[in-house]
Amino acid sequence: MKRLFSALRPDEICSSVHEIDYERLRGAGYRALIFDIDNTLGEWGCPQISEAVYALLQRVEAAGFAVGFLSNDSGEDRLLLKAQLGAWPVVWRAGKPKTHGYERLIALLRSSPSQTVMIGDQLFTDIWGAKRTGLYAILVAPVSLPSDSFWAKLRRPLERLLLWLFSRENPPHDHADNR
Ligand SMILES: [Mg+2]
Repeated sequence: MKRLFSALRPDEICSSVHEIDYERLRGAGYRALIFDIDNTLGEWGCPQISEAVYALLQRVEAAGFAVGFLSNDSGEDRLLLKAQLGAWPVVWRAGKPKTHGYERLIALLRSSPSQTVMIGDQLFTDIWGAKRTGLYAILVAPVSLPSDSFWAKLRRPLERLLLWLFSRENPPHDHADNR
């Protein structure tokens, strides 16, 4: 139980992808960033990501990170998004929290688990899978809760309970607050 508990615990919690201290991550030796797509980069099912998020992705790449995306969605009917992310590797139907999608993407990014950061909005998929694969895991607040998928909506109350328990157990590693 204790092990499952710690496998669900993010290393860091941020309010959005814009609030992450990428410079610090780069300084700590991380070289690849894996982003979840739905409700991390845009609303769940978003046809495209915003210009601000696109600019952020270009910025972190220019800062030296390999960038890739890991989604449990099939990617079908998302032609605009695929065209927009075309320059970067995407693993669709990733099966998070299973580890095979992470491993495939890490290989595509020519990185290793210990040098890779996962950024996503869900404990039971993004964070759990990342910890199982040995990555550094950052939880971000969902872009739009009302847009959540049916299953994500069901899991949110349990996520909130776990986050509350985490915050009681130890002070959270909330770097956004002490910059
Ligand atoms: Mg998501």
